[in-house]
Amino acid sequence: MCRFDIAAALCGILITTVVASPNLAADSRPAASQPTNPAPTSAPAISPDLKPLLDRAARTIEQFFGDTIAQPYETHVFANRAEMSAFAAAKWKMSELPCWAVAMGTGSTFALLAPQSWAKDACGHDAADAVAAERLITHELVHVYHGQHRADAEFNQADEVGWFVEGLAILASGQLDDQRIRQAADAIRGGAGPKKLVDGWSGNARYGLAGTMVRLVDQRLGRAKLKTLLAASNNATILAALGMTEEEFLAAWRQSFAQPAVAP
Ligand SMILES: [Zn+2]
Repeated sequence: MCRFDIAAALCGILITTVVASPNLAADSRPAASQPTNPAPTSAPAISPDLKPLLDRAARTIEQFFGDTIAQPYETHVFANRAEMSAFAAAKWKMSELPCWAVAMGTGSTFALLAPQSWAKDACGHDAADAVAAERLITHELVHVYHGQHRADAEFNQADEVGWFVEGLAILASGQLDDQRIRQAADAIRGGAGPKKLVDGWSGNARYGLAGTMVRLVDQRLGRAKLKTLLAASNNATILAALGMTEEEFLAAWRQSFAQPAVAP
């Protein structure tokens, strides 16, 4: 759901380094699009080099949720930023994509700027870091999975639970690495951590902040109950499942950084 991310100018892709194994040559045809089924293995517009990444991302999601992306969704691979921007404007009425936005995911759609175009058409990504690229793609496919469990599949009203939407994608994709956890810990120690859930997806440390918040939800509730929150559209629903007030949850989350081992 980078749709939401981008709208808030915070997208989940502003990451580190990404990829492209030299042969991660995604399809370069303009706005190639076609309905795709759960594991997008037979889509003609997906290049042979990109397909294994998508397959591995789908497997990661299945391992995390014990479930596959059940409903068909469109997959679009764009040769350049202009084409992706035109698509986002038409589909989601997004005015302009920041340079670091290279992918988007909602319940209906997975959109990707071809990794071989990142060097010239994006910032903040290295298409030679295959691990980061795979996690980035997985992140967006988690949004696809998540969107399909929401009444609002396109995340049009997801601002309140942005921390949960993004934190879930970060946690499930493997993006919650030690560096991001340290960034979150530093932010909290420096007094820059969010004081409200609605602010959980903000600031430079947002990956670590939102990711660790959802990690705590996962630890408290267990994976099965975490999955019941996919449909949640407000924080009251999530807090009711936790049996905690917002203050109690945030205090427990801050406390989790005080323990020596913060790594998962
Ligand atoms: Zn995201």
